[in-house]
Amino acid sequence: MQYEPVIGLEVHAQLRTRSKVFCGCSTRFGAPPNSQTCPVCLGLPGSLPVVNVQAVEMAARAGLALECRINRRSLLARKNYFYPDLPKGYQISQFEEPLAVDGRVRLLTLDGRTRGKPGTLRELSVGIIRVHLEEDAGKSIHAARQDTQVNLNRCGVPLMEIVTHPDLRSGKEASEFLDYLRRVLLFLSLCDGNMEEGSLRCDANVSVRPRGETSLGTKTEIKNLNSFRFLNKALDYEIRRQIRVLESGREVVQETRLWEEDLEVTRPMRSKEEAHDYRYFPDPDLLPVVISAERLDEIRNQMPELPGDRARRFGSQYGLDPGDALVATRTPEFAEYFEASAKSAGNPKSVLNWMVGDVTHRLRRDGRGLEDSPVKAADLGELIRLLDEGTISGKMAKGVFDRMYETGKPPGKIVREQNLAQISDRSELESVVSGILESHADAVERYRNGKRGLLGFFVGQVMRQTRGQANPKMVNQLLRRMLDR
Ligand code: ADP
Ligand code: MG
Ligand code: ZN
Repeated sequence: MQYEPVIGLEVHAQLRTRSKVFCGCSTRFGAPPNSQTCPVCLGLPGSLPVVNVQAVEMAARAGLALECRINRRSLLARKNYFYPDLPKGYQISQFEEPLAVDGRVRLLTLDGRTRGKPGTLRELSVGIIRVHLEEDAGKSIHAARQDTQVNLNRCGVPLMEIVTHPDLRSGKEASEFLDYLRRVLLFLSLCDGNMEEGSLRCDANVSVRPRGETSLGTKTEIKNLNSFRFLNKALDYEIRRQIRVLESGREVVQETRLWEEDLEVTRPMRSKEEAHDYRYFPDPDLLPVVISAERLDEIRNQMPELPGDRARRFGSQYGLDPGDALVATRTPEFAEYFEASAKSAGNPKSVLNWMVGDVTHRLRRDGRGLEDSPVKAADLGELIRLLDEGTISGKMAKGVFDRMYETGKPPGKIVREQNLAQISDRSELESVVSGILESHADAVERYRNGKRGLLGFFVGQVMRQTRGQANPKMVNQLLRRMLDR
């Protein structure tokens, strides 16, 4: 029997506010444990939460970008459960009447693309059930042979939860969707998208059913997926496992499972951990969240160009194939840099090659981001122009790039300072070439008698005399013309 996998994701994104969602504590990552807490986020008796308007507006912005209907009035509810990293005994979240519902994400996916060779292009449409606002819990640290420790800095950090319909059909589709969603959040400046630091987290719900069947099978939920690779691998594993279970005549058990990175398997979490009755109820300390129609319009009107639109525009404006357009829009910084550089170079494809090549490699080696690259976008563009015009050779360009990276100077200046400019002056090269031919009359004779391999020798002589600055293409042309006559 053929089985069809069915997948829906629950994505948690940390909103990039400076302070927490119900108090004024800082949200900065990496501060000493428990240094960013106050009576409100510790849940001390008598303290009162106040909602962070910026967090609400950020979640609304995401809802609009994901084509949702925004509930202008939504409720904050208490989700009750006990855990050591949750001092209040409840998490403030949204249950009934969430901030945004019924959205859709349309993204382009490339089946089987390898760099340079575009694969088949397909539009993937994924329904969004809801987008809601909630607060994060703290973090328990369980180390071997030690008491469990708790860090409450993350308590009350604003999160947005995005829940999709079960519209995804493979591990690869799920990770492509998450990658696109991450870009949307980056382009909206809502989330830093850092999966390692936990600013973007994802739980995956998965079931399988006989192909052609329309009702849903029993699902499992996989937690602990902190990279695209793990999401992809864990889903592929879990799909295979569920098919094996069904084929052996057993039934899939609805449960929460964890991805075990080392063993590359999923395993059930202890079932007690998910025997939950959260007893949601509206938080009596908080008023309903209300957004005015005017404010919503303002947010809508300030929407930046989204990554999908940007990729399509890069295709038509700069002639990038769809795969390259996706590469060029991997982050807003990358897209900005690409566009500024392409404008000054007039050779977009070459700009992209330099960016994924030398620029990325140098920056990665130094642990730097594109935004503090010593080589500015316009300067990279100028370098490519000097290369395309024949002022410098490809080999010189690599050297000039290294100098640009080390000194931050523009390429024109480096070329002048180092006297690098390629000699492309025809008459100047002609006199060098004829001088070389005169002083090697016997080699010329042998060449004309059929030893064509000597061409390289003559090129070498010209290069030596011009200290490598002769335009190699032109030297070859001139030599052939003068030798073959
Ligand atoms: P739960 O009540 O268990 O949290 P929800 O209905 O809230 O389930 O859905 C949570 C997520 O699981 C959503 O992303 C949804 O698309 C997905 N989902 C629901 N049922 C299935 C299923 N049978 N197979 C795969 N995914 C599913
Ligand atoms: Mg749920
Ligand atoms: Zn606080």
